[in-house]
This record gives sequence, C-alpha cells and structure tokens, in this order.
Amino acid sequence: MTTTVPVEIHQAIHDATSAGADELISTSRAIHALAEIGFEEYESSRILSGVIEQHGFHVERGISGMPTAFVARQGNTGPHVAFVCEYDALRGLGHACGHNLIATSSAGAGIALARALKAGGVDARVSIVGAPAEEGGGGKIPLCHDGLFDDCDAVLIFHPSDRTASVQYALACTHWEWTFRGKAAHAAGHPDHGINALDAFVHAYNGVSLWRQQLRDDARVHGFIIEGGTAPNIIPELTRGEYLTRARDGEYLRTMNLRFRAIFEAAARATGCELQLDERETYLDLRSNAVLAERASLHLAGVGLKEDRVVPWERTGSTDVGDVSYAAPTLHPEFAIADPGIGPHTHGFRDAALSARGEQAMLQAAEVLARIGADVILDPDVRRRVRDAFLTQPQHRTDWTGSGE
Ligand SMILES: [Zn+2]
Ligand SMILES: [Zn+2]
Repeated sequence: MTTTVPVEIHQAIHDATSAGADELISTSRAIHALAEIGFEEYESSRILSGVIEQHGFHVERGISGMPTAFVARQGNTGPHVAFVCEYDALRGLGHACGHNLIATSSAGAGIALARALKAGGVDARVSIVGAPAEEGGGGKIPLCHDGLFDDCDAVLIFHPSDRTASVQYALACTHWEWTFRGKAAHAAGHPDHGINALDAFVHAYNGVSLWRQQLRDDARVHGFIIEGGTAPNIIPELTRGEYLTRARDGEYLRTMNLRFRAIFEAAARATGCELQLDERETYLDLRSNAVLAERASLHLAGVGLKEDRVVPWERTGSTDVGDVSYAAPTLHPEFAIADPGIGPHTHGFRDAALSARGEQAMLQAAEVLARIGADVILDPDVRRRVRDAFLTQPQHRTDWTGSGE
C-alpha cells in the first residue's frame, strides 16, 4: 500500500479543491436547477466545460457526434488519467441521481490534479471528459468506440449514494423500445372490428412477470408504458413504452434478451397486433480495478471517510461506465450524500443532491479521485499494478452488443 508519492501532493490537491469549492458548488447547483435530460444537456455542458476551460484546459466540444459531449485536456506527455463527468437528469424526476455532483467532482478532481502536478513540475496528461446521457442513451459508448479512453492509465468517476464504498457493482443492461399496433374501433358498438394494442401489452407484461420467477437472482427486468390508448370508448390501436433487461454478465443477459423478445412476439401473435421491438443500447457490466480500489480505500480514510460494509452485487443498477471499464482501468466509488435507505431515483435523493452534505461529499470525492490520479501518475509501481490488474480481467465481448437479435 506504500507508494513513492510525496505527501505534499495531497496537500496541494486539498488546497486546490478548497480554493475552487465555491465555483464547484455554484456550478453543481446550476446544473441541478437546469435538470436537462440525456442528450439535451446543452446548457449544463456549456457551463461545466466553460469552468474547466478557465483553468487552463484545452476543450473540444461536440465529440463522437454528440453535441453535449466534450473532452478537456491538459499536458502533452507522460501518464494519462481521465476524470469523467455526467450531467444528465432523470426524465420526470430531475437530478434524483445526483449527476450534478458527479459533474463538478470530476471537474474539480481534474483541475486540482493538473494544478498540483504543474506546481510540482510533473509531465503528465489529465483529461476531463463530459459524457452525456447516462440515464439512457449511453453517451460513453460512442466515446469508447472512438478510443477516447484507450491510452488512459486510469479512468475515475464517483457516484453519489446512501453509502460510502471504494467499489461499486453494476449490472449489464439492455434498453428496449416497444410498440404494439392494432386497429381502432367503437369499444361498445363494434369491439369485434378492433385489434386491441393494450391487450397485447398486458399479455407481454404478464409474460414478463411470470418469467421473472425463472430468472437468476441477479437478473432484473422492468419497464413502463408511455402510451396506452386515447379514450375508453375506442379499442386502443397503439401502445408503446420501454423496458430494461439486466444481469451480472453479458452472456446471461444475451440469453435473457432472446426470451424477452419471444415474450413480446407471443403477445403480438396472441392479439393479432403488429410488434415493433427495438433493442437499443446495451451497457456492459462494471469491472472495478482492484488496485485503484485499494488506493481509493486508502484515500477515503485519508480524508476522514469510513467505508460502509457492502454486500457485492446487492442493490445495484447499471451504468455506461461499465463500457469504459472494458476500455481502460476504471474505478467508480460511491460516496454517501444521504442516510441509508434514501437511494438514487427518489425525491429524497434529488434533495440530497442539493444539500450541504451532498456538496461536501462532492468536494471530498474530488479530492479522493485526484489523490488516486496522483498515485497513478507519480508512482510507476502503482501504474504497472493497475495495468496488470486490468489485463488479467476478462476481456471485452463485442460480438453480442446491439445485435438486435
Ligand atoms: Zn441513475
Ligand atoms: Zn447515476
């Protein structure tokens, strides 16, 4: 656990984070108030990248075909550490996942680390990446496909939570969009002339619900209906919505997705409806780098935070940071911003993302991420062990994602 990293760098990181605290907090609040959803985070991206630019980073906006994505770079040679920002809100629930805090902690970490390295005369590369649409759409997937993270020695990002842990677990996940098309008719006068698209969805919903008992413990499948008809006296002619299928590994998710499609096709056949079922993006499972996690545990203690006991794979979601973790050594620790039980995607968590406790955690996360980055850049032994751990993890499966099958 010992390293050759001088302790002065930690003080320099702490000083830089403290000096930038007001700016980071006001930026976080502004993004929280904007609450822009995936791929529509124009103002959030503009404000955030503007702050980063003022701290000496060269910013490239609109990368990988996404107007709200950006990469900010400082340094031309040496080891490379990237911090990833998210800034999308949830549909209908605002910043109830606390991505406003992710945005500013990663920006703060990159700014503080670059400043500390510069003061120490160290040649290194620090990137701050703006990744849109984590809550659906998966902005990190095109960034990965374009190789943005390929030369990174470490990629770091924190997530707010109701617990503090150096390692977060996240399931592989496929996003589906479904539409049933039937035929409208007078629901009383000519019901026999109609084809009921709501019945098709009810069949599919029940089919999924029965299937759930047969799934492995780690699997999840859940969805909702956006459009379910237009009036009670018309046989619904169109219903549509979305679903997510999830599992710990991509192989099992692939088998789930075949069955999921079969259930929807059966519902269409049973009711005479037409089905359009689009398999959208798939997020890979999250592979946490064990050596980066070891550094995180050390630095969590270093800033006075105690790690909660976490049962692996218990109470987990999904993230496109999973895709990043197959491209480069990655860590995505969690920091508590609320009491246990007040988790993401709730009204209480949205409030926590704007609270003094949340903002304090954001600043601590910036400091911890920057310290981990400093270890990777300044200690060749840490860097080598991080790389070795990455290379011995299972390798990326590319043959099944987005297949539509
Ligand atoms: Zn979320
Ligand atoms: Zn989130």
